[in-house]
Amino acid sequence: MVIKAFHIHIKGLVQGVGFRPFIYRLAHQYNIFGTVENNNKGVYVWAEGNESKIREFVDSIQLESPEAASISSVEITEQNMRGYTDFQIVSSQSLSDDVTEISPDIAVCADCLEDMKNQPNRYNYPLTNCTNCGPRFTIIRELPYDRPNTTMAPFELCPDCAKEYTHVLDRRFHAQPVACNSCGPHYSLQYKDKLYDEVESVICLTADLLDSGNIIAIKGMGGFHLACDAFSEPAVSRLREGKSREGKPFAVMFRDDRILKNYMVLDQMEEKLLKSWRRPVVLLKSKKELAPSVSMGLDTVGVMLPYMPFHYLLFEVLRTNCIVLTSGNIADEPVLIDNDEVLKNLSAVADAYVTYNRDIHNRADDSVCFVVNETERLIRRSRSYAPAPVQMQFDTEGIFAAGAELVNCFAIGKGEQVILSQHIGDLKNLETLEFYEESFERFQRLFRFKPKVVSCDLHPDYLSTRFAENLGLPLIRVQHHHAHIASCMAENNLDEKVIGISFDGTGLGTDGKIWGGDFLVADLSNFERVAHFEYIPMPGGDLVTKEPFRMAMACLHHYFGADFMKDQREKLFSNIGQEQFDAVIMMLNQKINCPETDSAGRLFDAVAALTRICQFSTYHAEAPMRLESVAKNDISGNYDFVFDGETVSFKPMFSQIIEDMNQEIPVGVISAKFHQTVLNVMLKVAEQLLKKFSIKKVVLSGGSFQNRILLGGAEKMLAESGFEVYSHKKVPSNDGGIALGQLAVAAKRVSLNKN
Ligand code: ZN
Ligand code: ZN
Ligand code: FE
Repeated sequence: MVIKAFHIHIKGLVQGVGFRPFIYRLAHQYNIFGTVENNNKGVYVWAEGNESKIREFVDSIQLESPEAASISSVEITEQNMRGYTDFQIVSSQSLSDDVTEISPDIAVCADCLEDMKNQPNRYNYPLTNCTNCGPRFTIIRELPYDRPNTTMAPFELCPDCAKEYTHVLDRRFHAQPVACNSCGPHYSLQYKDKLYDEVESVICLTADLLDSGNIIAIKGMGGFHLACDAFSEPAVSRLREGKSREGKPFAVMFRDDRILKNYMVLDQMEEKLLKSWRRPVVLLKSKKELAPSVSMGLDTVGVMLPYMPFHYLLFEVLRTNCIVLTSGNIADEPVLIDNDEVLKNLSAVADAYVTYNRDIHNRADDSVCFVVNETERLIRRSRSYAPAPVQMQFDTEGIFAAGAELVNCFAIGKGEQVILSQHIGDLKNLETLEFYEESFERFQRLFRFKPKVVSCDLHPDYLSTRFAENLGLPLIRVQHHHAHIASCMAENNLDEKVIGISFDGTGLGTDGKIWGGDFLVADLSNFERVAHFEYIPMPGGDLVTKEPFRMAMACLHHYFGADFMKDQREKLFSNIGQEQFDAVIMMLNQKINCPETDSAGRLFDAVAALTRICQFSTYHAEAPMRLESVAKNDISGNYDFVFDGETVSFKPMFSQIIEDMNQEIPVGVISAKFHQTVLNVMLKVAEQLLKKFSIKKVVLSGGSFQNRILLGGAEKMLAESGFEVYSHKKVPSNDGGIALGQLAVAAKRVSLNKN
């Protein structure tokens, strides 16, 4: 038997996820002596023992690591023996400016749910957690990740919890939020001037109130939720009214996956995501209806499974199998986290309030994802995803990327990693802007980040741009769609010239027009726009996103003239008031307040409005979503377009759509043919660019790739034609992922300037 010593360096997300106790247990299993310690560069293991056992030990580290851990690399180097006689966890070395990762929040684990049935001090305790589960990012104030630096600080461990916390082989060894019925925070329920603080009565009364049609504000992991019975139309529509949310679908939580399957169609990947420790909201096709006001006519519903102990306790008593669980806020303000704010702001909508007395320090909305081509795609990257970093291949230290405006998320560069903030929201909201500023402050402290270079959008009026300018640091402005493409390149580790297809809502172009249907030849530092959709005027500017019928009118006016438009009024725009109709025609005729756009989002708006699927929109991107939702998937066929080598014109398509409408072809068929047309455009243009530039790598980004037909179809079609296709998997393709691209472009330009 050969006894040897090895030094093992494990990098990745290995802190706050029960990694050291896991190593300790494995070392015992393989008869290995030595130490394990946390260091600012990851986890260091000193292992002495039988060489083959150490090899097995290293294999097991990678195969059996805790669920929420993610190992990015393991380096092993042989060392001289030190002669250890046992295995020990040594205390964390103090952290320097190179900070290791902070774990996102983790859904309650099966063992903890078991403890809630069997451990007397955790019987029905709704804040039970262990080294493998519980809150992390949302409770941390400061590094290192130790209890006094979290919002658990005020709660002193009882002797039972202290024993678990200090016992190396215990499941709760060094679990910072460890707590029980006697020492931890508690839930309470406020209903009609009465306060209930005994857990059983809180749960039973909450369940009763929900089952009888009430709306309840419930404190979750990263903020308050508003909850009601998802089968009660009166409750759901009252929630809509109270939240000032006219049409945007609500997310729901089902009792369990068995029940969920009666209502939703789901494949293996979707099931895996629903049950993962991140417990995101997964968009699923519905097969049996909940209350109509949940999804407002869309064919998909955002669905999640219980992830906090409280959710499980609640469903034990609830009669309904599904509840709406939407962010506790009014309209698009940030999700509320503070008890007093909730009482003040949600009193018009909530009938009762469930809270607990542990603070949420970093707010985080539920994350939202969907599955296309068996792969997870994020729409909103927040709870349980942030602040896990995206690994890069080059130095990003000191770069701050301010993000976009509507779906803001910012990013900071630490070493070769980019840390994206949680979802911030629409910066035009004062409260959201405050949340942005506060989060940036917190990220600087938490990650010991000192901004040296700032990156922002080209748009001078984005509040994120203004914020970036006010920092008074070297500023790098990045064109919106270059940032989209660079974001997708960065997460796919591409650093070369690619064909970038950016289909998006809006983004200021270098010619002062609004882009969004663009083909770029780009690398990380620069880009050239080599093809794009034809420019169409937007009568009323930004107003067209709320009134997509304006885009339909603009397209018809542009292609067929004002007289044609007037002839079509009765048939296509009968529900638009005559005055409004005339006003739009006047604007188009005289080119007043008609900025030009080539945006794919606006093209979708135009077709949705022309087919009368959506002429007025009540939330962001409603028209494209409805258009996708009605598309029949068993239809082949498409419309014609003209590509002159630089510009794509949809004139033939619009006349063919009108022809189809005259023939009373169902909108589901028209929508399917329209989607296929856009796919054909991508292929045709990409093939031409391949010929011209000899580039085979195609990168897809922009908000339009949240459309499953478009994303799924483009990936398949382009791959079948020999392209290497890259799309988003780690960050959203919408503006929530744009900060990553801004940061990558800035990092690249900085490094080129140095050389
Ligand atoms: Zn647990
Ligand atoms: Zn305790
Ligand atoms: Fe965008």
